[in-house]
Amino acid sequence: MPEPGPSARPPIEPYKAKVVEPIRLPTPAEREAALARAGYNLFNLLSDEVYIDLLTDSGTSAMSDRQWAAMMVGDESYAGSRNFQRFESAVKELTGFPHIVPAHQGRAAENLLFSLLVRPGTKVPNNMHFDTTQTHVVRNGGAAVNLAVDEAYDPDSLHPFKGNMDVGRLEKLLLGASAGEVPLVLMTLTNNTGGGQPVSLENLTAVAGICRAHSVPLYLDMCRWAENAYFIRVREPGQGGRSIPEIGRSLFDLADGATMSAKKDGLVNIGGFVATRDRALAERLKEELIVFEGFPTYGGLARRDLEAMAVGLWEATDPAYLAHRIGQVQYLADLLGEAGVPFLKPPGGHGIYLDVRRFLPELPKSELPGQALVVELYREGGVRTVEVGSIMFGESEGGHGPPPLELVRLAIPRRVYSSAQLAYVADVVARVYRRRGSVRGLRMVYAPERMRHFTARFAPSSG
Ligand SMILES: *Cc1c(COP(=O)(O)O)cnc(C)c1O
Repeated sequence: MPEPGPSARPPIEPYKAKVVEPIRLPTPAEREAALARAGYNLFNLLSDEVYIDLLTDSGTSAMSDRQWAAMMVGDESYAGSRNFQRFESAVKELTGFPHIVPAHQGRAAENLLFSLLVRPGTKVPNNMHFDTTQTHVVRNGGAAVNLAVDEAYDPDSLHPFKGNMDVGRLEKLLLGASAGEVPLVLMTLTNNTGGGQPVSLENLTAVAGICRAHSVPLYLDMCRWAENAYFIRVREPGQGGRSIPEIGRSLFDLADGATMSAKKDGLVNIGGFVATRDRALAERLKEELIVFEGFPTYGGLARRDLEAMAVGLWEATDPAYLAHRIGQVQYLADLLGEAGVPFLKPPGGHGIYLDVRRFLPELPKSELPGQALVVELYREGGVRTVEVGSIMFGESEGGHGPPPLELVRLAIPRRVYSSAQLAYVADVVARVYRRRGSVRGLRMVYAPERMRHFTARFAPSSG
């Protein structure tokens, strides 16, 4: 792939706005006060204290006029709602999976599936677990094993499919496992923890073959499957002439089921599901669903939310939308590249991941450089980002595999920010990079037992 040139042009939006939400840059004094109040954890900021919010692309999408119109035909019946039928048909048609269990978001789907399949002493391989996925494996007594290819850990490798799994290591793990020790293999499309990097159809085919040979079910963590399919279309030989739904079907046909957070490629603010080919498992999932989420025709959601998902899941397959979305990420990458800012290459599908070790080489690990950079980007320009590194995936969180890269993620919400706003973000990052010697370290003063990045508190380090 060619390295981005210096004359980056913003991609043109394939939509126009008809509703707007004003935003305001807080003053430097307001930002400093907000940081202190928040314990230097940006999850504790009020959204009004944030100017450009790149904390996550999850549930932060702008819905389309068609989705809002769909919300108005909500049939809020407890059981047998029309919206559930439309949602179920949309997911079945897209994925080909026969049994669809709705859930209010991705982790609820993970809870349903993993609480049934994962037992103490088991191992769950994945290219890389995301935070909630890892937590649900670990809380059910399993070990979350990351098996991404070596290139995934090299920030400079331009490998087109850094989300791929190392099939040799998967084969070895399955050969050495006792019966039932590996209850399922997961593949995350795209690999969020590893930088939003895609998995190739070729690699998923190989992984599925190994799983079949060992009679272990393969499930997809399919949150960003449409972005993954887009990368397959533009990067994988022979795939350029196929539509996103066609490529998607090739992916889903290889798997036994999936969990989905529709807050990503469902283009909704809340929603998710588990899908499976296993009828008996589906019955048990529904029993769990009734205990934890609600009746199987709403799964913890308002029925209007199901209708919005039915529309959004298809909108996310529009090639013009995907070209613009992934073009926006590339545009931001081009601007950062011009400023010499180190980030994970090639840019992924949903955001830029700054390479903290090279951004702040002077700051030792004990001074939490990832979080320090997150704090500094907010201090500089009111931009909210998140650490994806040793705070999110530290030893205490129960992961197995190579230590994660130290990254700061700038996640781009779908259909929300203009290219001018992204150019502002690039400016803020470049300014902090130029004065990187002045960035101060942090220490953790409070850490909860699980998923500590959400609620930990920090203070400036004394060093
Ligand atoms: C967001 C996400 C989840 C969890 O979904 P939620 O809707 O946030 O609960 C799981 N896996 C991956 C890869 C994700 O990005």
